[in-house]
Amino acid sequence: MTNFVKDSVSQTPIVDTVFAIVNKAKEAKKTYGEDAVTDATIGSLYTEAGELAALDCVFDSLKNLDNKVLASYAAGFTGNPDFRQKVIDWVLDGNSRLYKEVIATPGGTGAVAMTIQECLDPGQTVVLPEIAWGSYNLMAQMNNLEVAKYSLFDGDRFNMDSFREVCTKTMEKQGKLVVVINDPCHNPTGYSMTREEWEEVIAFLNGCSKKCPVVLLNDIAYIDFAFGQKEAKKYFSVFDDISDNMAVVVAFSLSKSMTSYGMRCGAAILMAKNPEIVNQLKTVFEKDARATWSNVNNGAMAMFVDVLDNRLEDYDAERQKYVALLKERSEIFRNEADAAGLAYYPYREGFFVTLSMDNDLRDRYHEALMENNIFTVKVNKGIRVAICSMPVAKVKGLAGHMKKILDEVQAA
Ligand code: PLP
Repeated sequence: MTNFVKDSVSQTPIVDTVFAIVNKAKEAKKTYGEDAVTDATIGSLYTEAGELAALDCVFDSLKNLDNKVLASYAAGFTGNPDFRQKVIDWVLDGNSRLYKEVIATPGGTGAVAMTIQECLDPGQTVVLPEIAWGSYNLMAQMNNLEVAKYSLFDGDRFNMDSFREVCTKTMEKQGKLVVVINDPCHNPTGYSMTREEWEEVIAFLNGCSKKCPVVLLNDIAYIDFAFGQKEAKKYFSVFDDISDNMAVVVAFSLSKSMTSYGMRCGAAILMAKNPEIVNQLKTVFEKDARATWSNVNNGAMAMFVDVLDNRLEDYDAERQKYVALLKERSEIFRNEADAAGLAYYPYREGFFVTLSMDNDLRDRYHEALMENNIFTVKVNKGIRVAICSMPVAKVKGLAGHMKKILDEVQAA
């Protein structure tokens, strides 16, 4: 058929693997009853009662806003000034001395997409983690970019050798480096890098920046559920050591931090030692915003400011409850997995634990799990177990059961 869309765009439909399996799990619950089914597919935070977690302080704040605030456009294409300042204060928590600007975006997605779209030309290569949130690949595809992937782990540590190798090759090819690191609480492995690992990354990228401009895109979507809380934000000070030829874009999301996924609000924090770099990024990102979404949900921005200004104690208490729950669920799963000998990628904190295996075994195992009414999500080289949405009672005994099924698949 003649192309009604542009010739250069791939017309292969999105294969939403998560959505398809979520539906299978729903059907199984209808057929066999809730008790007989383990649904480890849903990637949002759920309560112990099996409902979507929606922080009261957040939605009380939203419903309390004046209608005119909800109705209004934002103050500008980069967002509201009080929101932008609050993002810096909350996210960086005093841990950065770099020059910085903030652009409000529709979710973390907007911040990541904008960076990938505006920092590379078609045909160039973006460096991604090998096991990662699927949208990175789609963003690359939609912008006609190539992808180079670094292997994430060397044993239970960040794979610095692979990171170095992939960045070096990419840099030599195109004289520019745009690198995505999804840390802390990597999706889907739950890994978080140590300060020393960040120091190594920055020292290496500083070396690269002697030869070409470097953009580090640090996706921190899950940071507010890091077990260390304020401690988990201290690594930002490592960025103070970046060279004059490097920029950091921190992609922040209210979706997880405020449990407000559907309100589509987040931010790109643009940081560099050299203000000219930040201003260049800001000029182009602001135009990109104007040309695509124009401006961001005013009510969501106002709510974020109100929660942090006037409801901080409640917000901390409510969030901490879920941090504790994630800790409890992940500890049960991992302790039982360790006891049973079920292998998973190094997990420190976050919404998911991911079992490690090659893709051939993964495909057979995923089917076998479903035959046993256990529903999970396939990721590259693994099986994602969404402990974020599973009540403790469902997590108990799961790892052992999964190991038995794995043994059967491997013996077949
Ligand atoms: N980054 C990662 C790693 C994610 O998992 C997600 C959401 O699942 C996002 C960014 C962006 O989410 P949102 O656009 O809802 O803020």
